[in-house]
Amino acid sequence: MKHAYANHYAEGRFLPSRGEVRMPVVDPSTGVEAGHVVSCSTEDVERAVGSARSGFQAWSRSTLDERREALGRLHAQLSARTDEATRLLAQEIGCPVWLGGLMQLPMPLKGLELAIEAIGQIDWEERIGNGVVERVPSGVLAAITPWNFPLHQIVAKVAAAIAAGCTVVLKPSEVAPGAAMVFAEAAHAAGLPAGVFNLVWGGPDVGEQLVRHAGVDRISFTGSTHVGRRIMAAAAEGPKPVTLELGGKSAAVLLEDADLDAALPAVLRMSMANSGQACVCQSRLIAPRRLVPEIRRRLQDGLGHWPVGSPLDPATRLGPVATKAQFERVQAMVRRAVAQGGDLVFGGASPDSEAEAGFFVQPTLVDGVTPAMELAQEEVFGPVLALMPYDDERQAIEMANATRYGLSGAVWSGDADRARAAARQMKTGQVVINGAPQNLATPFGGWGWSGFGRENGRFGIEDLLNYRALHGA
Ligand code: NAD
Repeated sequence: MKHAYANHYAEGRFLPSRGEVRMPVVDPSTGVEAGHVVSCSTEDVERAVGSARSGFQAWSRSTLDERREALGRLHAQLSARTDEATRLLAQEIGCPVWLGGLMQLPMPLKGLELAIEAIGQIDWEERIGNGVVERVPSGVLAAITPWNFPLHQIVAKVAAAIAAGCTVVLKPSEVAPGAAMVFAEAAHAAGLPAGVFNLVWGGPDVGEQLVRHAGVDRISFTGSTHVGRRIMAAAAEGPKPVTLELGGKSAAVLLEDADLDAALPAVLRMSMANSGQACVCQSRLIAPRRLVPEIRRRLQDGLGHWPVGSPLDPATRLGPVATKAQFERVQAMVRRAVAQGGDLVFGGASPDSEAEAGFFVQPTLVDGVTPAMELAQEEVFGPVLALMPYDDERQAIEMANATRYGLSGAVWSGDADRARAAARQMKTGQVVINGAPQNLATPFGGWGWSGFGRENGRFGIEDLLNYRALHGA
């Protein structure tokens, strides 16, 4: 069945979108159009921003209990729609159903729970001498999101805004509209007050209109570093504050005493899941040269357990990459890595003509990658792991830090103190030690080219609050 995303959401209801652009939604498993999105017109965007502005009058004065209750209703409505969301994620971005059930859906639900909890952890009012410092909602938020973990990224921004007393105009990715529509339907069914949540459809033009709009007070963007720069430049005119959650080139650093049985399957999961299309994808494995032959052999065996196939088949570990452009980019980067001296151990590029049958990329391992190579510096956003041998621990950390990105990383060691000491030298917003589960209550965000500002739990809400100091209050 083809989906037509022809309605946007403003003033507490769905309204027909009146833009002239019809954006195809392509099923990456077949390369065939599975639906389309009708973009919003300039007037539609005006109306959505107007809706958020008038909604802000009341919502900025809502009680903390009202915010908790609204988020609780949203959680219930979203929970009721997880099967539909999993199916749409498979159809629109090729995300296999196992990953939808394991991460794409549980993460946003957990995000909502943590936002509810975090409302009680914030110092909304603090006395300092004769002053009272208040933390007040910063206004109308424009939330611009990508396609790779679409529901999680929407919830990270919208739940934080609702908890902060802000209102939102969301412009989700045009590549994965299904997740955004599921969210909008849940928000509608949850009975959020009119104007608290609004959604507009469109590509870069609609995104830029929102960023520049005088009725928008701040921007929260998740996406590529390239687009993040443009958004920051456009927001400078306001000037208005921006949160940028951008790309990554995260490294897993394996110390000499690491437990390979635990580390290697975990590194494969963190580099391959969602076909490598995760901002925190561990796309570099920095490993002791002495152990590289064994590591290569084990990874080769491990990759045999990542079959590529239909994302709707529960046995499939890897679906296609999300778009044809992504398919071509990944193939080209693999070819260049080999041309630059990389040793192809597993997988590899297939001819671009194969995209006719869906955008499937083989899981790929390239050994002998050095810091100067493109594969060590640029985000691939595909199932490609670069194996980088090192000679001593100091060099390993230097290699891990030798990119302009700084989103995430991992350290593996049999000695907890040694692992922690290495983790503290990583120039990244988060470091996972010995495969610990990601703690969504801690701040999430990057350093350097990976952006700034923080999401998740208390930190995501605080990001959207302004200080007001009352002297003599
Ligand atoms: P993208 O930058 O192409 O697009 C992201 C969003 O920005 C989309 O909604 C798009 O329509 C919109 N957009 C594009 N140009 C715009 C402009 N000029 N003005 C305003 N909006 C504009 O990213 P993508 O391809 O959807 O997602 C992949 C990228 O996102 C990767 O680089 C990935 O690392 C990054 N990402 C980062 C995080 C994080 O939290 N740090 C999480 C997920 C993805």
